[in-house]
Amino acid sequence: MTLPRPPPAGNGNPPWHALPVGDALACHGVDANNGLTQEEAAARLERDGPNRLSVQPGRSALQRFLNQLTEPLVLVLIGSGVVTAGLGEWIDSSVIFGVVIVNAVIGFLQEGKAEAALAALARAVATEVTVLRDGRRRRMDAVHLVPGDVVWLSAGDKVPADLRLISGKQLRTVEAALTGEAAPTDKHFDPLPADTLLADRRNMAYAGTTVVAGQGQGLVIGTADATETGRISGLIAGAPEIATPLTKKMAEFAGLLLWVILGLAALTFVIGVWRGESMAAMMVAAVALAVGAIPEGLPAAMSITLAIGVSRMAKRRAIIRHLPAVESLGSTTVICSDKTGTLTENAMTVTEIWAGGEAFGVSGQGYKPEGELRLRGEIAVPPAPTLGDAVSGSAGDMALGTALRETLLAGALCNDAALYHEHRQWQITGDPTEAALLVVARKGGLDETTLHNVFPRRDELPFDSARQTMATLHAIEGRSMVYAKGAIEKLLPACRNMLAADGSEAPLDTAALEASAALMATRGLRVLALARRQLAAGDELTEAAISAGMVLVGLVGMIDPPRVRAVGAVRTCHAAGIRVKMITGDHAETARAIAGQIGIVKAGDAATVLTGRDLARLDDEALKAAARNVDVFARVEPEQKLRLVRALQAQGEVVAMTGDGVNDAPALKQADIGIAMGMGGTDVAKEAAAMVLTDDNFATIEAAVEEGRGIYDNLVKFITWTLPTNFGEGLVILAAIVAGVTLPITPLQILWINMTTAVLLGLPLAFEPAERGIMHRPPRPPGAPVLDAVLIERVVLVGILMLAGAFGMFLLAGERGQSMAEARTIAMNVFVAIEIVYLFNCRSLRLPVTAVAAFSNPWVWAGAGLQLVLQMAITYWAPLNNAFATAPIDLRAWGEISLIALVAMGIIELEKRWRGAAG
Ligand code: ATP
Repeated sequence: MTLPRPPPAGNGNPPWHALPVGDALACHGVDANNGLTQEEAAARLERDGPNRLSVQPGRSALQRFLNQLTEPLVLVLIGSGVVTAGLGEWIDSSVIFGVVIVNAVIGFLQEGKAEAALAALARAVATEVTVLRDGRRRRMDAVHLVPGDVVWLSAGDKVPADLRLISGKQLRTVEAALTGEAAPTDKHFDPLPADTLLADRRNMAYAGTTVVAGQGQGLVIGTADATETGRISGLIAGAPEIATPLTKKMAEFAGLLLWVILGLAALTFVIGVWRGESMAAMMVAAVALAVGAIPEGLPAAMSITLAIGVSRMAKRRAIIRHLPAVESLGSTTVICSDKTGTLTENAMTVTEIWAGGEAFGVSGQGYKPEGELRLRGEIAVPPAPTLGDAVSGSAGDMALGTALRETLLAGALCNDAALYHEHRQWQITGDPTEAALLVVARKGGLDETTLHNVFPRRDELPFDSARQTMATLHAIEGRSMVYAKGAIEKLLPACRNMLAADGSEAPLDTAALEASAALMATRGLRVLALARRQLAAGDELTEAAISAGMVLVGLVGMIDPPRVRAVGAVRTCHAAGIRVKMITGDHAETARAIAGQIGIVKAGDAATVLTGRDLARLDDEALKAAARNVDVFARVEPEQKLRLVRALQAQGEVVAMTGDGVNDAPALKQADIGIAMGMGGTDVAKEAAAMVLTDDNFATIEAAVEEGRGIYDNLVKFITWTLPTNFGEGLVILAAIVAGVTLPITPLQILWINMTTAVLLGLPLAFEPAERGIMHRPPRPPGAPVLDAVLIERVVLVGILMLAGAFGMFLLAGERGQSMAEARTIAMNVFVAIEIVYLFNCRSLRLPVTAVAAFSNPWVWAGAGLQLVLQMAITYWAPLNNAFATAPIDLRAWGEISLIALVAMGIIELEKRWRGAAG
């Protein structure tokens, strides 16, 4: 096989924009009707590689590692190491430096993992393209595109590669990503002078820019790094930033803590020296205080908790694109959701038709084109004997058939979907609304492939959610016929006449039509009006052509069943204090009926439904009240979503908003959490969103809220668990100095405690499953402090329990004549024992420990078990005894340590219960 090489730009060859379309296609050895063969495409993929920009390595590994060492709290540790070395305490100093390095390595590895996980998730949201191969349109991942491919573009698409445009209609792109120009550019297809600047090449569309209107076809002339974006930026940013409001708050907290620790260390030093202690001993004490009070494990634990959380969400089909959304999800108070496809299945089946004043019922299920059309119980149109059968009757008869037949014909012609039988199933490509029209046409004996051959399409006006109409122009026996379909409110005003049952034209009976549409809509059906208009030969299909003089041919009503899981999810949201609002482009009555079926409003209630037209009449104040009180908004134009989000936010609501179209992007960006549909959404919507649903299901939003609450809980649990240790250790040192006694615990022992417990006891909290009843709480106020007064008091209480337990046992051991090493080993084990039991307390911050399923998080048990093993090792294993100045202790000591731990656990549980009763 020969692979044609395109002429490289420069080298005397005209650049792509200077070539006529035919020449550009010829250079690639491709024709615009068939595209490449799969075989050829595979060979080119082999030659040019996948269509994916090289990823920037981001910060180098060394840089990332060094960054770990410049954290303020780590700097204090390093300072402590230097001081200890200055005092000639070589073992202490090397352990401190060892901890610094181990800590940095853990942080480095975890951060790397978290970044990689997030980057992988970002890539998981693939860009899909429609491409012509072997004469057939296919949807595929844009990474498989090769030079020579012919692709389709439509509003909302991200241009997947550099394209020489071949044809199109009203195609406009925004090229801000490439040229910085935010205004949309109109595209055309004629050759341009060779020296035309990039920004003025109207016949090209460049990778990374976005299509904002119209549709078109383009020839791929460059992929991956060979695109203009690839050349200019070279590389795309590799690693996303791992920061959320909470991690930022914690970083600020660490900054504050640094000064507090330094102040306390200085105070310890001054008090000690003033009491006549040696400077060297007081230096050691100051160092002990500093290393004790620093929560070394905190930053790593936070990024691990977040990383585990986002991958948990991904398993539940919600992909987080901006990390802060994880936290905002936990405080969401309102979810504004689309209807079609999110709350409903988006699996359309036409069940009713109104044509020529007669109502028909349609039998059959799903996309299987088998069923009957019945008029008052009688079969109205005999089904086609075999599928794919030619259209019965001549073309002329068809165009002038009955109103029913004309309705089916309009639906099948004004249609971009495809219906096929594969893997023993009926499948569709394209819009389910349109696929449903193909199915019903086949049930009526009309096969769309034949129709497209008999009545070829000459032009089209694509569906647009603001216009809510689609139209196509067909050649029918020398005449030009426009077929249009769309929302009844939009099409009816454009109609002059309607078809009577026999196919003749009759005056429009607006009242009868509206009543029929309303009847279908109140049953929850999506209603589409179909109309036609004959144009003079040579007339173009423009907006003006379909805004007057149309003839209404019929109405179709299709069911789109509510998603079963959405019903439960809405109920859960209500229990969790979250309002659910439906914002749909559909008819008000359809919206009301579906909202009732799903439980957004009470079924059968005369709940208020506001339409886009109503919204347009409201000023900002009235809109605020409406946004608060009304739960169903219908016939809403995408631009109005932005106003609604703002109105809700102005009242302090935290808004999650779904969207899929190109015009939804501003609302998605404005919302606290913009949510795009992974399957049905446009690239533009996905890019604007903070979260993408891979199954487009409302229930996934509810699941993500639950996970978001769980992740935040786990972060708070870790902080609540870790701080008392640091606080307690700091207090112990301070108390010893103030009381003028020997330090009950050395800097080295403190480091041992902090490092081992942070990993073995603290990290398992990141795996804690969402707490029972988490969706029965109200949303967390967004501005609320991380630790409320209750938790701060608990931190202080536990810190004091640790101080009292460890100090008490240390003094008791001294009184009993035990050695310093033994006394310190006992004190150290008291700390760890309280930390272990407190870990179980912290599995729920509000519920009693018995309310948490004991084995729902096996990591906690594994961590606690391992920690005990390590405590045995440091207590009884000679090499560790030597390194850490510890000594074996007797059974009585263990009994007392266990008792103290259990008492501490009981006190904390009592405090929880007392708080619960008081709160
Ligand atoms: P949601 O915003 O909840 O997803 P929706 O899918 O009904 O609701 P749109 O897709 O904007 O919203 O559709 C609005 C209206 O446009 C529909 O009620 C229907 O009347 C009409 N419509 C939908 N799809 C098409 C189509 N392919 N061709 C013509 N008209 C359509």
